[in-house]
Amino acid sequence: MAHPQEDTLIARQITPTPVRLLVLDVLQHHPAALSLADVELLLGYADRITVHRTLKIFTEKGLVHRIEDGSGAVKFALCEPGCTPEHHQDFHVHFFCTRCRETSCLSTVAVPVIALPGAYQVQETSLVMKGLCENCASAG
Ligand SMILES: [Zn+2]
Ligand SMILES: [Zn+2]
Repeated sequence: MAHPQEDTLIARQITPTPVRLLVLDVLQHHPAALSLADVELLLGYADRITVHRTLKIFTEKGLVHRIEDGSGAVKFALCEPGCTPEHHQDFHVHFFCTRCRETSCLSTVAVPVIALPGAYQVQETSLVMKGLCENCASAG
């Protein structure tokens, strides 16, 4: 029996387990990035270590990416289909809403390449913009 969420995991060399499928389901059905605590809350699942491990595996396998939005908690969001463990393609801008405190992936907005002086070697760049998200801005 084909199960699209199992296929999503298998495509990233992740063995489907009930918890992994539940975590994937939560991520797929929530438009904003989620912290470990958010995922636990939405799952109603108490085993923090298993959820943490699941998100770690998802990150290592290129299924989700980590976002440090300055809120103090690392957040996780699903990667774009082209991401692989070795090569994440989602170098997009993230947006943190100061009103609803949700962090969104702006998948169509690429992080610009910034030239640095001298011998600096960049390993990663992240760009988090802050302000009002679409929902909050239109709410006035
Ligand atoms: Zn908002
Ligand atoms: Zn993102």
